[in-house]
Amino acid sequence: MIVRADWVLPITQQPIEQGEVVVQNGVIVDVRRRSGTRGSADVLDFGEAIILPGLVNAHTHLELTVLRGAVEDTPFFEWIRRLVDLKAALTESEWRDSALWGALEAAASGTTTVADTTDSGAAVYALTQVGLRGRVYQEVFAVSPEQTVAKTLDELENKLQQLHRATQGTAVQVGVAPHTLYTVRLEVMAALREYTRRKGYPVCIHAAESSDEIALLQEGKGKFAQMYAQREMRWEVHGKHPVDILHEQNWLDANTLLVHAVQTEPRHTELFAATHTAVAHCPQSNAKLTNGIAPLGEWLERGVRVGLGTDSVVSNNTLDMFAEMRSMVLLQRAVRGVDCGVTTRRAVETATAGGAHALGMAEQIGTLEPGKQADLCVVALDNVHCFPAYDPYAALVFSARASDVLMTMVAGKIVYQRGEYPQLREPVQRLRERLRYTVRRIRERLAQDETG
Ligand SMILES: [Zn+2]
Repeated sequence: MIVRADWVLPITQQPIEQGEVVVQNGVIVDVRRRSGTRGSADVLDFGEAIILPGLVNAHTHLELTVLRGAVEDTPFFEWIRRLVDLKAALTESEWRDSALWGALEAAASGTTTVADTTDSGAAVYALTQVGLRGRVYQEVFAVSPEQTVAKTLDELENKLQQLHRATQGTAVQVGVAPHTLYTVRLEVMAALREYTRRKGYPVCIHAAESSDEIALLQEGKGKFAQMYAQREMRWEVHGKHPVDILHEQNWLDANTLLVHAVQTEPRHTELFAATHTAVAHCPQSNAKLTNGIAPLGEWLERGVRVGLGTDSVVSNNTLDMFAEMRSMVLLQRAVRGVDCGVTTRRAVETATAGGAHALGMAEQIGTLEPGKQADLCVVALDNVHCFPAYDPYAALVFSARASDVLMTMVAGKIVYQRGEYPQLREPVQRLRERLRYTVRRIRERLAQDETG
């Protein structure tokens, strides 16, 4: 099969005008200027469009998709409190439908690999139904003392076994996500470190996201501290920054992905670089939840492995990686000016090869090169808001939107094309109807909260 367009962005080399990607058995065998091969069943010619590596969403929570827009205009602490409350209302099958809707959105917006953090495990179902590649990190919480080390590890082991069964023979890998240092007690964190090392699991941890988190861990103050006190739960204060605690517990290594890391200091950048720790950068979520702007420019300068993530749609509110790239560039330029070094090319690299590196998948995906998996997407340039396009990187970052994606391919298989999902086994409309029912229930609950 040959996929052809006005532009091909291999990422490893300069954009190719009038280019094409040759795919055989799910693998890229050539990336070149267009050949003489005439249009046939095996040639997909998209004309005025860009072919680029499939986007890698380095952090999201697909299962929360049905809660898009349900918690708005609140600062971080209130946001997370209300989110936890709404999560309790959903059933197992609703989690699955919600995650599946998120996977549809990801595929339709050019994303081929999703690194997801899941409580319910529904992301595995969602990604495999749509045919996406991914890494699903099983979330672990251990706030109350009843959630002992033994109980936590036992429950985790059960959930991981289920995830392994569900991912067999698919392009989805399994990892572990101790949620945060304010929702997993330190003794449980230590046991999880030992467990994930011994079993070789990749790890994902939300760290240094909000100032409330820092206040709790460093000084035992702030909103989290007040909440735990109200519930008469003792939270051990370590007097240290979360990244320093993680470092002490030996979490910082090439197998660990830290999410957010907004509230970090220059010495932490050095630490990430020295330990090869990866970071999932979520600029829109960080801004929307009033958590600030991460030192992305410094990370990139120091060679820290950085992937770009949308976070869940409760804090974004879409999985549009084009919007995320734009915010990534604009926010850095707004605060760091001309020296920020965050170019449009850098943004596209971060959303593709950067994510692949951050997840340890760079040998298979992230660029268009012979030998790599045929994970790619095609973005139209002929819509009114994209014409004219002098530079393909600028067009992708500053003009394009998710809805400009014409086709998304994973391992040579089309997972999305012009509104259709060829791998999906049920009509999208049926899924939408089920979700409408869930939305009605959530609205009722929200109305009760307001009156009660
Ligand atoms: Zn998150």
